[in-house]
Amino acid sequence: MNSNPYLQQMKGSYLFTEIVNRTKAYTASHPDARVLRLGVGDITRPIPEPLIRAMHEAVEELAHGGTFRGYGPEEGYEWLRQAIIEHDYRPRGIDLEADEVFISDGAGSDLGNLSELFAPDNSVAILDPSYPAYVDTSRMAGREIIFLPSHAENAFVPALPAQKADIIYLCFPNNPTGTVLTREQLQQWVDYARENKSIIIFDSAYEAFIEEPGIPHSIYETEGAKEVAIEVRSFSKSAGFTAVRCGYTVVPRQTGLQGMWLRRQCTKFNGASYISQKGALACYTPEGRRGILDNLAAYKQTAQVLSDGLRSMGYDVFGGVNAPYIWCRVPQGYTSWSFFDHLLNECQVVCTPGAGFGASGEGYVRFSAFSKREDCEEALLRMQHVK
Ligand code: PLP
Repeated sequence: MNSNPYLQQMKGSYLFTEIVNRTKAYTASHPDARVLRLGVGDITRPIPEPLIRAMHEAVEELAHGGTFRGYGPEEGYEWLRQAIIEHDYRPRGIDLEADEVFISDGAGSDLGNLSELFAPDNSVAILDPSYPAYVDTSRMAGREIIFLPSHAENAFVPALPAQKADIIYLCFPNNPTGTVLTREQLQQWVDYARENKSIIIFDSAYEAFIEEPGIPHSIYETEGAKEVAIEVRSFSKSAGFTAVRCGYTVVPRQTGLQGMWLRRQCTKFNGASYISQKGALACYTPEGRRGILDNLAAYKQTAQVLSDGLRSMGYDVFGGVNAPYIWCRVPQGYTSWSFFDHLLNECQVVCTPGAGFGASGEGYVRFSAFSKREDCEEALLRMQHVK
């Protein structure tokens, strides 16, 4: 047996392990310190009650002979796929067929698994900094990676790749920078992909956070995108399903990949759980929607508190409007890790060092609006005293 040499060469997840280790070391030597964790990307508010109720009912169905069910369709129940089309796409003028929507156990799995659709020698373009899954997945497959640096100087929107990229991962609203694209900017990527016969994997996990008018919620709002784009979405951050696990991926027939994806899923995935799909369906009821909007509003308020507070202290702050992440430039003389240490040691505040998201993340740290609002207020007060 020869193990996968690419996977073997990969280091552990340095970013989050290192954050945990440094925080643990601090709390071990300062047992009375109240450490405020403002870096986390996980949700902190409970799942809205109508969604929970729907999942309880689904569990109950499984307990009785008349309503019990076993395996569902690998691509997900049609009632959920239709609800997605009706609520998430049709109102934006996007027509999809039910067999172009695939229910998943979350965006994370699909973002990795989609890589199996492509030939091993395909090159991949990835924004730098980025959510680590794209780089890690591409490295595991031994693919050539073209990094596209994004920083304040290009408003976190990198130039199109100079050479041909076969696969392009785009994530908007962006994790970690919080950037969004206008329709015109997104159209340029779609045009590039059409010219170069590339495929875009559009990670739209934070779509629900878009609030400014004119910002596209789906890549299919641009012309020709159905030929070249796969869109990956999640109920994790909108409905609070990070533990429940449910998302979906749109693979339009025009990409020529829809049949292959179905084939792949039928072999390797036996479908998302009935319970999580029932919970997801409840997101589209009026009361479910209200619960989700309440949670989103609370996170958005926290984002505002963080952005305003940091800005009032003179920090350069980006994102935080159409996204739950605030991307903050570190003061002169610091690296992203030395600023992390400074905040931990002087304020007992934990952020996420930008360098962990890629080389171009150096010089920035990420704060998350999923943090508790009281913790953010307290953190800002502490930071005022040490700056
Ligand atoms: N995509 C991005 C940009 C994310 O930040 C995350 C999670 O933090 C995911 C995908 C994964 O989401 P899921 O919980 O649906 O696997």
